[in-house]
Amino acid sequence: MSSQNKEVKTTNFIRNIIDDDLSSGKHTFIKTRFPPEPNGYLHIGHAKSICLNFGTASNYDGYCNLRFDDTNPSKEDIEYVNAIKKDVEWLGFNWEGQVKFSSSYFDKFYKYAEELISKGLAYVCFLSADETRLFRGTLKEPGKNSPYRETNIEENLTLFRKMKAGGFKEGLCVLRAKIDMSSSFMCMRDPTLYRIRFETHHQTNDDWCIYPMYDFGHCIGDAIEGVTHSLCTLEFQDNRRIYDWILENLDDFNNSNRPNQYEFSRLNLEYATTSKRKLKLLVDNNHVSSWNDPRMPTISGLRRRGYTASSIRDFCEKIGVSKVNSLTDISILESSIRDDLNNIAPRSMAVINPIKLIIENYPEGKIESLQAPIHPQNEAMGTREIFFSREIYIDKEDFLEMPPNNKYKRLAINKEVRLRNSYVVKASHFDSDNDGNIKIVYCTYDPNTLGKNPTDGRKVKGVIHYVESSQAINAEFRIYDRLFLESNPAKSDDLSSSINPNSLEIKNGFIEPNLLNAMAEKAYQFEREGYFCRDSESIGLVFNKIVGLRDTWNQ
Ligand code: ATP
Ligand code: MG
Repeated sequence: MSSQNKEVKTTNFIRNIIDDDLSSGKHTFIKTRFPPEPNGYLHIGHAKSICLNFGTASNYDGYCNLRFDDTNPSKEDIEYVNAIKKDVEWLGFNWEGQVKFSSSYFDKFYKYAEELISKGLAYVCFLSADETRLFRGTLKEPGKNSPYRETNIEENLTLFRKMKAGGFKEGLCVLRAKIDMSSSFMCMRDPTLYRIRFETHHQTNDDWCIYPMYDFGHCIGDAIEGVTHSLCTLEFQDNRRIYDWILENLDDFNNSNRPNQYEFSRLNLEYATTSKRKLKLLVDNNHVSSWNDPRMPTISGLRRRGYTASSIRDFCEKIGVSKVNSLTDISILESSIRDDLNNIAPRSMAVINPIKLIIENYPEGKIESLQAPIHPQNEAMGTREIFFSREIYIDKEDFLEMPPNNKYKRLAINKEVRLRNSYVVKASHFDSDNDGNIKIVYCTYDPNTLGKNPTDGRKVKGVIHYVESSQAINAEFRIYDRLFLESNPAKSDDLSSSINPNSLEIKNGFIEPNLLNAMAEKAYQFEREGYFCRDSESIGLVFNKIVGLRDTWNQ
């Protein structure tokens, strides 16, 4: 078990329950599980569940299992199994023992289903899907008993065995629990336990043609593994009745230390969707390039974008755990990564919209090597070599012919600025093309201002960044905007209408030569521009913008 989160002990209602269970002696140890269905890649919502399950177990010196809830072969794939394992490990958590699969309990589930049938608590039902819906009733009206509800036990066992043996067509019948068709909880009106699917499963191949429903398999999987606290999201609140009903009716599990289910609120993040189904649609419909597209709120997308595992854990800690559903402000996620990178990211200079600056009084052919701090607040990180010569690149945005007002701190004609880590320069004139676009700015520099202020008391307020032209390296910058135009795209089922058509902007500019071998996923602060990291999926020098230096959304 990872110890990264050990020191964090913010209390929440789940920890209160655990504390009570430990002090009453109901449990002597804590075991949780994270149970993803391998039907897509994990997203930031899963990170909340992972941090809660693994973090809570770790806080109590307990264990957390990683269990794939793989009971629906039609949507699942081994690609997702592998991606999920990788994401959980990257987030910094270790599961107890081997990875678990619900499918490895299929034999046991089957045995427990026969136990329920033998007790007269389950029956094979041949109502069609439409009939079943009609018989179920509504929130206001009780349901009606299925005509198959009174089939005798022997007959039900025979029918269920025939289902298992492939003797019925897909969809012809299901196994249902015999609970209460007039229950005020719709999910208790004889829920389906098993259905027929002639599909090849990624773990069990063609061994089975009947597959358990979540409500049947999940509680039994928890009980088999000795899970003490089964934490899930609020939409399963009503289903807790089935969870308890099934375990209480199985001889192996009807005891006081059987698992209990507790629900917490899902994470909903602004400008994102936390539904694997909808994320898959974004990939399938080419709105993004892949599951790990840096705009995706998937763990692999955030990672590729440059988010660190510790910033995601910090975010999950900040948002806390409660029973109130809400929409989480995306700036909380962004401030977590900013806080992390501000301390650790090496500084560098990159020019994203380059124009040339020619320093007319600087000797031709001369190149100076200068030392710049890697982190101005952390001398121990050392220095890096940068260059200076007669021709450098600055950003288009940093020059205006006429300063718009007195507060303007960048370069303008007859105005001085400091070039970061080097000299003070003053612009004199510029060249532009036929369309009026500025191409080259000419200036002079003050040779006595390297690392010091002008001696005659001139005040130079502005600082701009640059890259020396002969040593500059071409790089591509990918600047991301929100993927959705609406803060709560989950409201509509058709996500495509709220997709931001300008969520990716590609720029070609220059970086310092020392970034030629920049590692993927290692973040840099490009001074004045934001935090960036090299893209892990591109061969050339491509940098993803992780986040700006400050929160600009709310301005
Ligand atoms: P999706 O709709 O994305 O498929 P899911 O709940 O069906 O979500 P699972 O793979 O079944 O996805 O989820 C694994 C675990 O992660 C579950 O315990 C689930 O409750 C939890 N989880 C999923 N989404 C969120 C979320 N947005 N916030 C918190 N926990 C979540
Ligand atoms: Mg699910």
